[in-house]
Amino acid sequence: MPSQKQSSDQLAQMPIDQFYQTVASSDNGLNANQVKTQEAKYGPNVITAAKGQNKLWQFLKNFTSLMAILLWVSGFIAIFAQMLELGIAIWAVNMINGLFSFWQENQAQKASDALKKMLPTKATVIRDGQSQQIDTAAIVPGDLLVISAGDSISADARVISSDSLQVDESALTGESDLTDKKADYHHGEGKFAEHNLVYAGTVASAGSAKVMAINTGMNTEFGQIAKLTQGQQSKPSPLEIELNRLTRQLSIIAISIGVAFFLAAIFFVHYPMAQSFIFALGMVVAFIPEGLLPTVTLSLAQGVQRMAKKHALVKNLNSVETLGETTVIASDKTGTLTQNQMTINNVWLPDKVYTVSGEGYVNNGQVMDGDQPVKAGKNAGLDLLLKAVTLNNDTAVKAANKPDGQPQIVGTPTEASLVILAQKYQLNSDELNAQNPRQKTLVFDSDRKRMSTINKNEKGQLTLYTKGALDGVLAKTKSILTNGQVRDITDNDVQQIQAANESYAKQGLRALAVAYRDLSDNESQDLSKATAENTEQNLTFVGLTIMADPPRPEIYAAVKKAHQAGIRIIMVTGDGPITGKSVAVKIGLVSNQARVVTGDELTNMSDDDLREAVKGEVLFARVAPEQKYRIVKANQANGEIVASTGDGVNDAPALKQADIGIAMGATGTDVAKEAADMILTDDNFASIIAAIEEGRTVYSNIQKFLLYILNSNVPEAFPSVLFLFSGGLIPLPLTVMQILTIDLGTDMLPALGLGSEKSEPGVMQEPPRSRKAHLLNKSIIWKAFALYGLVASLISSAAYFFVNYAYGWPKHALSASGSVYAEATTITLAAIVFCQIAAAMNARTKYTSVFKIGLFSNRHIITGIIFEIFLISLIIYVPFLQGVFNTHALGVAEWLFLIAIPIPLVLLEELRKWFVRKYFMKLSQ
Ligand code: ATP
Repeated sequence: MPSQKQSSDQLAQMPIDQFYQTVASSDNGLNANQVKTQEAKYGPNVITAAKGQNKLWQFLKNFTSLMAILLWVSGFIAIFAQMLELGIAIWAVNMINGLFSFWQENQAQKASDALKKMLPTKATVIRDGQSQQIDTAAIVPGDLLVISAGDSISADARVISSDSLQVDESALTGESDLTDKKADYHHGEGKFAEHNLVYAGTVASAGSAKVMAINTGMNTEFGQIAKLTQGQQSKPSPLEIELNRLTRQLSIIAISIGVAFFLAAIFFVHYPMAQSFIFALGMVVAFIPEGLLPTVTLSLAQGVQRMAKKHALVKNLNSVETLGETTVIASDKTGTLTQNQMTINNVWLPDKVYTVSGEGYVNNGQVMDGDQPVKAGKNAGLDLLLKAVTLNNDTAVKAANKPDGQPQIVGTPTEASLVILAQKYQLNSDELNAQNPRQKTLVFDSDRKRMSTINKNEKGQLTLYTKGALDGVLAKTKSILTNGQVRDITDNDVQQIQAANESYAKQGLRALAVAYRDLSDNESQDLSKATAENTEQNLTFVGLTIMADPPRPEIYAAVKKAHQAGIRIIMVTGDGPITGKSVAVKIGLVSNQARVVTGDELTNMSDDDLREAVKGEVLFARVAPEQKYRIVKANQANGEIVASTGDGVNDAPALKQADIGIAMGATGTDVAKEAADMILTDDNFASIIAAIEEGRTVYSNIQKFLLYILNSNVPEAFPSVLFLFSGGLIPLPLTVMQILTIDLGTDMLPALGLGSEKSEPGVMQEPPRSRKAHLLNKSIIWKAFALYGLVASLISSAAYFFVNYAYGWPKHALSASGSVYAEATTITLAAIVFCQIAAAMNARTKYTSVFKIGLFSNRHIITGIIFEIFLISLIIYVPFLQGVFNTHALGVAEWLFLIAIPIPLVLLEELRKWFVRKYFMKLSQ
């Protein structure tokens, strides 16, 4: 049992030393022993999952559905009408069916629980004075946490020091305004108003801070609320709604048919009441699609598991179906389409261009001037540029452990490439940083696309170093450093710089501009007043670093696949328009004619114009993340189903708005991950396409499953129709128990197997499914009832008449009891089961040859079929079951006939599929 919640109110007000004492920690964080003690005292930092429904109730629910109740009642009636064996058998079948659904539900639950475990969130803590990453579950009270923009806060904590930390507390308070958090105690109005406390479940939107955990897990304010809201039901997904509707509709049809058959049995055939009821029951059971919901849930869960293996973690089952409907993907460029492995190829200075060779690692290459290695000190511009990118840099690159290994990067790849550039010059960055300590950081943000630092040199002078997107830097530039001199920048200089940038950008290379400015004495007096707006101006342009970020190798195939699947991809990048377009064209996203809309243009564009623009070949460059939201909305207004990627704090609105928000698992912030529906563990665009393919597969498997369970209704009902229409002259060729055998017995496992069928080749060659399209569409109805169902009815009835013929029909009347009757109904039943074996094989593909995907490639179906044959053999040969099911042993000739049934059925269907492939390919659903 975790220890008591600590009073955060009191702790927030204590002098800091007393606070450290009370939470048994220090400004160095906890040490290893203290962590152990706290762990033992408070347990893991987790919000215990909502218990959900009581297990017993969940179990019982499977025995209280409409169909289950019908079967219970029918059992009673059968017993009441002195058909004891039948009554008990009906109950037994009902029990087995309920247990099976319960097992399916459990399996699905297990799958989604396993998935949740794959999503651990990390936190940075300082323990024993060392900064380290741990799972948030391992945080204990007293832990010193480092929080930066984009992190979710995972414990209630007191702020120790804050660098303009702003927190979004809307999850707790409902207020969307950001709250400033500071180290000093100040109590505002109402709950959650202490300025020096942060709460679990909220997120850091800007700035950074060190905070010390006070309460964790269920002791946090969030945990207390979670306790209250536990047990609330989640909203049903569109698929669930559709399935419920389908089940309801089919049940109404089933009951109507049941009532009609009941009346017909009484009035046409003059059956007694109870017998008529049992007879009608067979029809009702045949038509109610009992296993539908649990099987669908299970195949969704299995789809989610398969997606996880392909690096796409889906947060809830609903997203699986939306993925299959996706028509547009709005995708970032850097890291998603490209590798995010920046290598600097060139350093462009107004007076010289350097080619950088080598793989880009220490000792592995040098900066070259033509054939000659360049030494630092040769060019004032180069020196200053290297100094600027070293001081204005928050990334550490540790040399690789192995000679051929990759260096370890702690920070961003863009900055890492700059670190490596400086290392190639053998520049001692530690020394440089010690000589020019940083006084202030104007942090990078993707709106202004720049970062600046203010550093103090040995003489005590302050210099601003800026690096960032060229257009923005140029706009703030007043002078230029060239040939060792600083002079006013001219239009000619600007043109030259832009021309250089353009020629690199056309090759898909990215330019990062570097500039600086010495601060005035006045400015140096009070740095707290220095903001990006008032400081990043009148800069002196130094040069450009030109970096390559190659496309991911698998991107070409993924883009092609997406296009074949009718999915459009719209690149939305913070990078420049020419670089963006060059990469987009290179990887086949768009043609050279595509329109490029820049962030500035987008700002001035009306919603209608934007809606028009996104219809054509288009990409967006130099956009701020907030603008992505508009792009998503414009597409949705055009009726598209939109997936959007994102990684930063400001991407959250677009991720929430999109039908499928996709966050980057490796480089994404917690905020983005929280807002998203799906997380890519490898940040790779190709994984989105793999997930869409799975999404489509799951949906199409559900349709295959539907086709299979519906088609057997026809041969199950057909004998009853013969019986009724002949006014009883044709004795019932299939008894009620036999119908139950098929519907709740032999059909179960192969149906389940269809739910786990692999993607059919061609599933990505169809256009996306329309949101309006129904699960049970015309093609399935036609195939189930008019094709598979009718053929099975004819075959099974033929078998029935054939057995009778062998015993002298039509000379003698058809026998209604005794061994001939039993043998005739047995062969009818067995023939339907063997037709179902063919149906299982035929339903596996929509148009691909089943031989191509491999007759035995779905082990679940093969097991299902073996089980089916085993079960039917038991029913036919075990004497006790013969009595219950009114069956009779079959001879060798009859078995040969049965075994032969699936062969022509599969071959004929193969012929039809071949015909479809040849003449109707581009198929509709
Ligand atoms: P995408 O949006 O496709 O992922 P991106 O990585 O270029 O592309 P941002 O991260 O928003 O998008 O970066 C936008 C621009 O900001 C970059 O093109 C670059 O010019 C500049 N930039 C990126 N990182 C830094 C940094 N650490 N310091 C300064 N400027 C940077």
